[in-house]
Amino acid sequence: MSKKILIINTGGTLSSVMKRNGLLPGLSIYDMQKELQMVSGETNIEIEDFCSLDSANIFPEDWSALAQRISDCRNDYDGIVVIHGTDTLAYTSSMLSYMLRNIGIPVVITGSQLSITNPVADAMENCRCAIHMAASQIPGVFVAFNRKVMLGCRASKVRSLSFDAFESINYPNIATISSLGMKIDTASVPERTGIFKLANTYSDKVCMIKMFPGIHRSLIESIAAQGYKGLYIEAYGIGGMPFLKHDFIGTLDKLIQGGLTVVVGTQCRYEGSKMDVYETGKRALEIGALQAHDMTGEAALTKLMWILGMTDDISEIRDYYSINVAGEMSC
Ligand code: ASP
Repeated sequence: MSKKILIINTGGTLSSVMKRNGLLPGLSIYDMQKELQMVSGETNIEIEDFCSLDSANIFPEDWSALAQRISDCRNDYDGIVVIHGTDTLAYTSSMLSYMLRNIGIPVVITGSQLSITNPVADAMENCRCAIHMAASQIPGVFVAFNRKVMLGCRASKVRSLSFDAFESINYPNIATISSLGMKIDTASVPERTGIFKLANTYSDKVCMIKMFPGIHRSLIESIAAQGYKGLYIEAYGIGGMPFLKHDFIGTLDKLIQGGLTVVVGTQCRYEGSKMDVYETGKRALEIGALQAHDMTGEAALTKLMWILGMTDDISEIRDYYSINVAGEMSC
């Protein structure tokens, strides 16, 4: 029997048209119906508009509402495809991986680097791949792009112009398409660990900064003074931060004692943090900073937002952050 797939449009380049102020999402899902039918093959597709936004304008409340919509209709479809702008797609796919943890159907997010109206675009190919994955009966949250499928919480946008815009970071691709068809690496799909229960709350009191030589500790003091509860720091190398000329780690210590949750990751795209090697990382671990290990920045930040939306209890936050929730972390 042919599979029933829902395609939800949120906007992005895939649905864009050129206007006086530049390229902006202007096509509704109904304007794209003919193209989507062409790539849907045997599957029976239904379509709907959720919003029509450049993904720079997607905010956490949109993640929450999207997760709610997907949860509400999950029993009516074999799979769901979400069309999304590529710029913040990896944040959305990471957060949906947590909010929709243990979902029983495939949820596949896709987009494109050129509008579906452009005859040489990657849009049709990406939708074809996403629809095919959504019909695979393999549950989870995924990203489909340029003939590959990645875990939603491992995908990251690594190229701003090329069709090969996304990579799966520190984790194998879930599927690839070649002349042999779509080959799914089922061993890499994280197992469901329990029943599905929508968890779409989040905290908007989370901030992210990138370490740079000359960073002043007053920056993090002002973040804490503004009432932020969580801070994700992209530190150097395997997770180093200064403690000499400017005692950044000493200031972090005070802020952590005051209740700020601090997660430390790396500016390096591959291989992650390992803070117990150098003094510049070890000191931060000793004062209670959590580490992101091999998570992407998108997965590390959204995980902090998600956990702080559920609890204020310091030991629960620490426990939750160190668990591999949806395949985002290897250790
Ligand atoms: N600015 C667009 C967006 O993220 C880029 C894209 O979709 O490729 O919505």
